[in-house]
Amino acid sequence: MNILEINNVSKNYGNLHVLKEMQLSVSKGEWVAIMGPSGSGKSTLLNIIGCMDTPSKGSIKINGIETSQLNKKQLTELRRETIGLVFQQFHLIPHLTALENVMLAQYYHSIHDEKEAIAALNRVGLGDRLHHLPSQLSGGEQQRVCIARALINYPAIIIADEPTGNLDDENEQIIMNVFRQLHQEGHTIIMVTHDKEVAENAQRTVMFEYGRIIKVIVNTIYA
Ligand code: ADP
Repeated sequence: MNILEINNVSKNYGNLHVLKEMQLSVSKGEWVAIMGPSGSGKSTLLNIIGCMDTPSKGSIKINGIETSQLNKKQLTELRRETIGLVFQQFHLIPHLTALENVMLAQYYHSIHDEKEAIAALNRVGLGDRLHHLPSQLSGGEQQRVCIARALINYPAIIIADEPTGNLDDENEQIIMNVFRQLHQEGHTIIMVTHDKEVAENAQRTVMFEYGRIIKVIVNTIYA
């Protein structure tokens, strides 16, 4: 089953054609990497998949729901129910602990369950850092808090925009291990990265140029 179906999607900002008749299907549980030069439309596509923007033309179905016709409120609801977001910048609240940051996200999802927030932090190996503030955590640990935060609504799709972009090699490895684990558990992952080694973890790498997919590389490890 395809969890995501993008059909003939174009996105224009005035005269700027950022995405051009894009076609992409992602099946449930698949890990797809997106690579391409700066300005090629990667973040624009992620924003559309993440229900933060709509295409100018074309169709996008998430979990069978056509999103291009939804209004802002409906898009927000769909995002809340189906999408987990991980960014390059961590966007953690500095005066809240790791646990409180995850619980704040629960609040946004109308959940209040400390045990579940602790379980999410345990899943990313931070069970012993629950009461640390972001400033008391390494970059890799902060990113793991962000992943825990993204997981609390059991998202159908995890969208990650350069999740290792701010990390050193060691922390990059730790974060990639977390993503490998999530993939093994059956999560669907769509990840933008500039790093070929990071992309090689995915089942497919989709290469962008000037708003088009110019090449798809299939990872033979998964074949
Ligand atoms: P990438 O993520 O591949 O670097 P983006 O999707 O961020 O590329 O941007 C693609 C192009 O669209 C860029 O030229 C960028 O300046 C332009 N762009 C992105 N968002 C907007 C916007 N809201 N308004 C106008 N132009 C935009």
